[in-house]
Amino acid sequence: MTRFPDWLQGFGGETVGKRITEPKNKAARSKLLDMPGDRIHRTGISLLTGLTLFLTLACPHQAAMGAAGRLEFSLYRNDGSEPGNTMLVVGGIQGDEPGGFNAASLLVTHYRFTRGAVWVVPNLNFESIVKRSRGIYGDMNRKFPAVSPSDPDFEQVEKIKRIIIDQEVDFVFNLHDGSGFYREHHVDRLRNPQRWGQSIIIDQESIAPIRFGELGDVARQIAARVNEQLLKTDHSYRVKNTRTREGNREMAKTLTYYAINNGKPAVGVEASKSLPTHLRAFYHLQVLEAYMRRLGIGYERSFELTPQSVKRSIEDNIQVSFYDNRVLLDMANARKKLGYVPLKKDAEIDYQASSPLVAILRQGSRYRVSYGNRRITELHPQFFEYDSSRHFIAVYVDGQRKAVGFGRMVVANEAFVVEPQEGYRVNVIGWRRAGVGNESGVEIQRKEIARRFSVDNAGTTFRIEVYKDDKFTGMVLIKFVDEAGASRDQAARPLS
Ligand SMILES: [Zn+2]
Repeated sequence: MTRFPDWLQGFGGETVGKRITEPKNKAARSKLLDMPGDRIHRTGISLLTGLTLFLTLACPHQAAMGAAGRLEFSLYRNDGSEPGNTMLVVGGIQGDEPGGFNAASLLVTHYRFTRGAVWVVPNLNFESIVKRSRGIYGDMNRKFPAVSPSDPDFEQVEKIKRIIIDQEVDFVFNLHDGSGFYREHHVDRLRNPQRWGQSIIIDQESIAPIRFGELGDVARQIAARVNEQLLKTDHSYRVKNTRTREGNREMAKTLTYYAINNGKPAVGVEASKSLPTHLRAFYHLQVLEAYMRRLGIGYERSFELTPQSVKRSIEDNIQVSFYDNRVLLDMANARKKLGYVPLKKDAEIDYQASSPLVAILRQGSRYRVSYGNRRITELHPQFFEYDSSRHFIAVYVDGQRKAVGFGRMVVANEAFVVEPQEGYRVNVIGWRRAGVGNESGVEIQRKEIARRFSVDNAGTTFRIEVYKDDKFTGMVLIKFVDEAGASRDQAARPLS
């Protein structure tokens, strides 16, 4: 497995990751593409960091809005080049279970599939995710045998049902974060048969004779594999059979039971709410990868499957670009409020994010940026007409001239100069000198920029904005790193 480069490595704009050809036979057979009004991403490229991902605009993510202005889920079809089995992974059916939806989202942004296919819905109950609620219209995972057309979840439930029964899908996974640790026998308050955490949930032992229909046998093999590499023995996985058909009325309303009643092998996968989010995602990925190997699905991932790199992959993956990359904001460590963000006058906000868990919602005169359950920042816009006559600026850093495209970031140690260009005015946000209106052609020192204008809490990243007359042309970010930081970035190698 190739270790992933620091995302700063991407600022030069190399395309990392290769396009994967879709298997024609599978694509042709799928009915999904005929579904009108659905949001389906056919991602050929998955092996990308967040930043590179939208720098190259290979696989951008924009939250889908429904007719009523409500967030809708997205389906990502990640097809390998070789045909094989297809698994469907659903995250976020309950909005307050971030281990599940972050794991599903990483499958979209940090994995590449070489054989078979993995379809991912990382944000099934997206509205509830953004609002940090189990279900703002009640528990979506109790609406599967039937849901009233007047239920606000109606459309989303009907859509995911059609995906589940698509003939392409061979196995369905519904990811959860459950309470405590499921144990067959009572140990204590958190470890007992009533708990759900660290388990694979089956509705019944088998739905043979269909392929992978031996749900219990397969799940026990998977649990055994996962239990070989636990961080602590306490985290061990068990298989929990809810015996739904024998009269479990609650479980009869769930997504997985709907799937098995439609002839699809399906399991619930539960990480434990007793663990921090990144460890839940870590275990979800362990379970899913064990199933991928069992189903013969070929995969590669762009990070090592360790708790620390899962944590970093989740936390670093919050970059947003606006209006065809004229503006880029790295929100991994953004300030709570970002002021005077140049947005387009008289237009809907148009953005692309590095993760399918990013949503930008209007709140009066501001925009709130969410990433999963987290509120990242609030944008206070200033509206401009946009000018598209230029696509980059030249910046001198450390004696070197660099062409930097709008929507990109350039790294400097102490100072930089933006090359003047006739007819364009440069504004470095937070820098001011009496008598200087156009800030190009002037050496700008890090210490001369007011720190409170940085995009990030660390005070390292600032905005360089370019205007033509009173129109906004584009933005570049300048990130100051110390000598150690710079050499660390140079040490990172792009994927090959
Ligand atoms: Zn759940």
